[in-house]
Amino acid sequence: MRCAAVILAGGSGKRMGTAVPKQYMEISGKPVLSYSLKTFSESELVDEIIVVAGEGYVEKVQNDIVDLYGFHKVSSVIKGGAERYHSVARGLEALSDKTDYVFIHDGARPFVSAHTIERCLHYAVKFRASVAAVPSKDTVKIADDDSMIQQTPDRAHVWLVQTPQTFEYLMIRDAYRRLGDDEDRLRAAGIAVTDDTMVAKMYADVDARLVESSYDNIKITTPEDIQTAEMICGRIFGDDKGGIT
Ligand code: C5P
Repeated sequence: MRCAAVILAGGSGKRMGTAVPKQYMEISGKPVLSYSLKTFSESELVDEIIVVAGEGYVEKVQNDIVDLYGFHKVSSVIKGGAERYHSVARGLEALSDKTDYVFIHDGARPFVSAHTIERCLHYAVKFRASVAAVPSKDTVKIADDDSMIQQTPDRAHVWLVQTPQTFEYLMIRDAYRRLGDDEDRLRAAGIAVTDDTMVAKMYADVDARLVESSYDNIKITTPEDIQTAEMICGRIFGDDKGGIT
């Protein structure tokens, strides 16, 4: 069984409000992106990695992260697109038809564990699609455009989804091709594509299995997340600081 990972680092970090996109900022002296690259590189389940970098960052990622830290499973660093789903589509197209399963992972999530990767693949093999997630600790409200509450979903059924999102490769690649053909209609209808399981559902009618992950698998989005990440890093790795030298 051949498994690949598409690691997304093509965002511009608008919500971070910094000159450097979040995936290239540092936690304990190492770029955010290097942490998940290390975990996927060291996984025996992963044969190949594609990194999707932002405009103007392809060479920097290749030289300053992939080559510097010796992430040999990275077969190419490619340029991303305007939206996350464009970057995913490009990453999927960079893989060969011989790929059986693909992990799609946000490079802005440094603390994905080997255990989560293993469980995500297990359930992707069983259900064709799986997604790392955690139960919501807070009650979630659905609001209208005026911030008035419309619905209160039963908290027992509310999950916060993360990545990896893991799929049968040809199924998700073809679903993304159909999404590409349907983009104008989605835009006109105001439908935002914010994760990969919704693409699998909309264009391949495949339901993904939730895989309970860890609350440590945070996505670095705003500046205070870097402080939280430093704390998580210290707790997980101690003095080892991610084990990247
Ligand atoms: O913007 P968001 O936080 O949802 O981004 C999630 C991941 O997708 C990040 O790792 C980011 O770098 C990546 N991304 C991308 N291409 C884009 C937008 C986001 O690869 N155009």
